[in-house]
Amino acid sequence: MPECIFCKIAKKEIESYIIEESENFLAFLDIHPHAPGHTLIIPKNHYEKFEDLPEEFGKEYVEISKKVATLLARALATNDFTLGINNGPLAGQAVPHFHLHLIPRFPNDGGGSIHSVVFNKPKEDLSVIYEKILKVKNES
Ligand code: 5GP
Ligand code: ZN
Repeated sequence: MPECIFCKIAKKEIESYIIEESENFLAFLDIHPHAPGHTLIIPKNHYEKFEDLPEEFGKEYVEISKKVATLLARALATNDFTLGINNGPLAGQAVPHFHLHLIPRFPNDGGGSIHSVVFNKPKEDLSVIYEKILKVKNES
């Protein structure tokens, strides 16, 4: 099986516009940007989904993401961002190597909020869904 594209970017076998790097993470510009400065932040090793990431990566991930946001804010003169993860194919994940999208937002950029991603209004009452969750929680 051919190796994943983001693994190749992480190993620098494929070129990308790298803007920040830490021991376990790499931040580079998305090749098809949805806004100026649209950046992807990936673990250098291959993990497919959010829940596969080692917990000890948390601090380093937050640190590099904040660093990138600060850099982009200064370079592109905005303080607002949409941060997004398409986690799994049903959520629109096309590259099966975990990545955080950091998308700078600008006045009148035509975009929406995270609420515009989906509106699959539940048929059940909130309390029914809550009970389902509590049942699983109490069983574990
Ligand atoms: P996803 O839908 O998986 O969350 O998004 C994957 C993102 O990776 C897309 O926004 C796409 O433009 C970006 N992408 C795919 N291949 C490459 C590549 O080879 N280089 C870079 N820099 N970005 C890529
Ligand atoms: Zn990979």
